[in-house]
Amino acid sequence: MSIPDSVLSGLRGSLTSSAIITPLDEGYTDAIRRWSDTGIKQAGVVIQPTTTEDIVSALKWSQTHHIDLAIKSGGHSVSGTSSSQGGLVIDLSRLNRVTVNPETKTAVVGGGAVWKDVDEALAEHGLAAVGGTVNHTGVGGLTLGGGYGWLSGQYGLTIDNLLSAKVVLADGSIVTASDTENSDLFWALRGAGYNFGVVVEFTFQAYEQSTPVYAGIVAFTPDKVEGVIGVLNSLLVEKPDPRSGAITIFARPPGAPVPMVNVLVFYNGTEAEGNVRFAELLALEPVVNMVSMIPYSQVNALQNPMATYGDRKSFKGIFFNPPLSPSFAKQVLADFTEKVQSDADLGASAILFEFYDMTKTVEVPRSATAFASRGTTQNGIITLRWSDKGKDGEHRAWARGMQQKYKERLDEEEQAAGAGGVPQYINYAEPGDSVVGNIYGENFDRLRELKRKYDPTNVFRKMHPITLE
Ligand SMILES: Cc1cc2nc3c(=O)[nH]c(=O)nc-3n(C[C@H](O)[C@H](O)[C@H](O)COP(=O)(O)OP(=O)(O)OC[C@H]3O[C@@H](n4cnc5c(N)ncnc54)[C@H](O)[C@@H]3O)c2cc1C
Repeated sequence: MSIPDSVLSGLRGSLTSSAIITPLDEGYTDAIRRWSDTGIKQAGVVIQPTTTEDIVSALKWSQTHHIDLAIKSGGHSVSGTSSSQGGLVIDLSRLNRVTVNPETKTAVVGGGAVWKDVDEALAEHGLAAVGGTVNHTGVGGLTLGGGYGWLSGQYGLTIDNLLSAKVVLADGSIVTASDTENSDLFWALRGAGYNFGVVVEFTFQAYEQSTPVYAGIVAFTPDKVEGVIGVLNSLLVEKPDPRSGAITIFARPPGAPVPMVNVLVFYNGTEAEGNVRFAELLALEPVVNMVSMIPYSQVNALQNPMATYGDRKSFKGIFFNPPLSPSFAKQVLADFTEKVQSDADLGASAILFEFYDMTKTVEVPRSATAFASRGTTQNGIITLRWSDKGKDGEHRAWARGMQQKYKERLDEEEQAAGAGGVPQYINYAEPGDSVVGNIYGENFDRLRELKRKYDPTNVFRKMHPITLE
């Protein structure tokens, strides 16, 4: 159902700086494109504003006419929480300016920037911030849900380095949220932020970053899976080092007959330091070693070839408290191998387990922000990728089944170890996921109170909505 011209004309008349794209316009297909085809919806109208005032006007218009609303930053939601079927999308992608202050080592970042914009602008000043590890993801979604990256070991989560945010609220008012202004809103933005307004500007603390750094992929044959996980456990649990991290990626590289155990390693230091740090891993004799010294601003591009746009995708988080059982990882690899070997269309799928040093992250009290999964837990993810829409149900059901099975096993292990007890990481959980449970954990009641204060008619309700009753 399209938006009547008489209604649309009101929007057109109120905007001064925006591109306005309807289904009849050239560029519509591009405007509704998302990282995953499963996130695409047929919007009634997309606007791409360059001013906050246009966002205010569009918000008011959508509420006056009861038009469905979505806010889009990097567009990586696989379930389409930044898309609207028939309604209005406020696409922030043209609000992507990054202004760096080298003296205070801070960056003011537009609400529609992607991490590449931030990494590159900061690198010009020898600085870096805690961003995501795939540089085309949006600053908006990643920050509002918490944000982990290679620098989390040293500086904590992305939200732990957020100094302030400029927000357009549902009633059209423009406010600043920080420790000193609207501090309750600032609390809520850091972990449940998509529920409270349109963030048009983020101000981040950045840090001096020497470059190049030690990073790249080492790949092992599947029979090495238990040894690899054992070494990563011991590095993380017995010898934590805030300068290092690793992501295990079960995936089939081009030309490989079966999924391999690929490990993306990172050491924020010299080659000699990196080689010492990962000596035990390298001693397991990888079949491929692509580790090199590269500029820090390129590190978050390393996964881009494995995380390209297009096709249909499903994201199912696996949340674990280290050490990750090597026999469990072996079982996951076996399940995954069987699944991808059963259908050639699944060849670009992957299962990831992250290994970050969480010491800095857990120094911040859990009650300090709305981020409910602050703990020593680590994130993993099942990411299936396929092209045949007819297989949506089958592949999603498999991923959900595996997520449920793995959750039961990991929950048991956590309880036995007396660990865990925090909800799954919100950014690795799409809404409506029955396996995930209460994503806001102990923060839910306070979030609901703040929702009543800042968005009483529940305008922002697409991503893990906070229900009012
Ligand atoms: C390939 C890939 C790699 C990833 N890597 C990491 C990683 O290293 N670390 C990590 O922590 N997470 C990672 N994630 C998860 C990622 O943080 C979430 O998918 C995030 O929501 C993506 O944000 P986006 O802006 O790109 O997506 P969008 O789809 O644009 O937005 C996601 C949600 O946030 C809302 N939103 C976005 N911007 C704003 C804004 N400015 N104001 C109000 N609401 C807004 C949208 O309305 C939507 O509901 C990754 C995801 C993918 C797909």
